[in-house]
Amino acid sequence: MTSAGRFAPSPSGELHVGNLRTAVLAWLFAKSTARKFLLRVEDLDRARSGAEAEQLRDLEAIGVRWDAAVVRQTERTALYDDAIARLTAEGRTYECFCTRREIQEAPSAPHAPQGAYPGTCRELSHAEREIRRASRPASIRLRSDVAEWAVEDQLSGRFVGMVDDFVLRRNDGVTAYNLAVVVDDAEQGIDQVVRGDDLLPSTPRQAYLATLLGAPVPEYAHVPLVVNHDGVRLAKRDGAVTLGDLAAVGIPAKRVRNLILESLGLPAGPLEDALPFFDPERLPREPWVWKTPTG
Ligand code: GLU
Repeated sequence: MTSAGRFAPSPSGELHVGNLRTAVLAWLFAKSTARKFLLRVEDLDRARSGAEAEQLRDLEAIGVRWDAAVVRQTERTALYDDAIARLTAEGRTYECFCTRREIQEAPSAPHAPQGAYPGTCRELSHAEREIRRASRPASIRLRSDVAEWAVEDQLSGRFVGMVDDFVLRRNDGVTAYNLAVVVDDAEQGIDQVVRGDDLLPSTPRQAYLATLLGAPVPEYAHVPLVVNHDGVRLAKRDGAVTLGDLAAVGIPAKRVRNLILESLGLPAGPLEDALPFFDPERLPREPWVWKTPTG
């Protein structure tokens, strides 16, 4: 199977410079290790009509190119259902009828880490499940037999994080992100995951799930985010932060690309020309503070 890296945006709106910088990094990591680079649209949730086309256009405008047709998660439900069916056949799932509120109010299990699912529905009897099914659709949770799992991150080193009985399929029938991402990375031959370091805490769950599904655990590199002048993760409300906004104040896509490259200690110009200079060891480990340049 191919060896590949990827960028996997959620088409919830336009990409901002933080998202674009992560995409550039994912491309650099993949290309500098002779991998293919794939683009996957994570449209199971939060999709806004038209956003995918804008995102692809903006990635191309800064020179990010992908090596195969774009994959969309909404077209891959059968793969997710199949993975859940396999886990279910192994006794590794259960139905959960809890509302968010019930989870918040439930006494947590002894020694359970904060935020872990308290296990309310884990041991329901057949009869109890029948009763609950009549009143509410169930979500499907993983019956995890570990409390934490370790991953190795190329930038952060060893990271140990919580693994609880996390949701695989929501009670509205939508596949949960943690399941979809693991199934897709395995099925697409993605063995290198580069993404924002806000996602590091979910990585142990994903690595554990990959192991249960018999899939290889990819290499991980969680990269620093872009922040505003208050040190808070960049968001649309921080002024001109998308290519569209920046173009409107006289800053073209190529200049944004160059600013991103400079923030990574790389020479301005086409991404291909920066590639020979890319060295993950020398990447800045601090968040990049974005200041909208003057036109
Ligand atoms: N779709 C996720 C996001 O845009 C990224 C998931 C991933 O890279 O694994 O935040």
